[in-house]
Amino acid sequence: MKTIGLIGGMSWESTAHYYRILNQETARRLSGLHSAPVLIHSLDFAPIAQMQSEGRWDEAGALLNRAARRLVAAGAEVLGLATNTMHVVGDALTEGIEVPFIHIADPTAEALLADGFDTVGLLGTRFTMEMGFYRDRLTARGLHSLIPEVDRTNLNGIIYDELCRGIVRDDSRRVYVGAIDKLAARGAQAIILGCTEIGMLIDDAVSPLPVYDTTDLHARALIEAALR
Ligand code: GLU
Repeated sequence: MKTIGLIGGMSWESTAHYYRILNQETARRLSGLHSAPVLIHSLDFAPIAQMQSEGRWDEAGALLNRAARRLVAAGAEVLGLATNTMHVVGDALTEGIEVPFIHIADPTAEALLADGFDTVGLLGTRFTMEMGFYRDRLTARGLHSLIPEVDRTNLNGIIYDELCRGIVRDDSRRVYVGAIDKLAARGAQAIILGCTEIGMLIDDAVSPLPVYDTTDLHARALIEAALR
């Protein structure tokens, strides 16, 4: 099995979740006491969130490229980035990197298409919902995506002010369920939890539409790539 290199810390709450799934999936696939060979490079999120809000994407891309190089130098043979948002600088991250990089949107799109969906609601940070890089990738794979028409600031705030700090509130869950209801009314057949922390708040039990959690799907795809 190949060694996985995971760039995390964005936020550490969801990176902790990745670590659990990587190991659970390895044990499920290989049985017994098997666990995932993984190098986690967990970054300090505060300066990165600052770069995001100030639009300093080149700086963020260079930072993630350095992190990727360090992981490869340490022996990583497959790479993943444990946040949807920062895939906006995926090209900069992978510059000069020879090992496979598993893009978080790809296993997500594959799972939705395999289940027969073609129109999905996308929930995530403002950057993921509005900047185009993510929806374009879904479109290229044949998935039409819808984003909330209202409440995007509120949905975004819940991610940074609460979930990334480990705060899970019923009021915020209701805001997300309300957004899913509105996406369903506009024709969404399923929902992409397109932020690696939303799974802390929303699952199939509370959602009016089936949810596809990018954290779970991405972690499982990393194991699949490591076993290939
Ligand atoms: N983890 C989040 C995501 O998947 C948001 C934090 C970030 O901006 O990286 O987009």
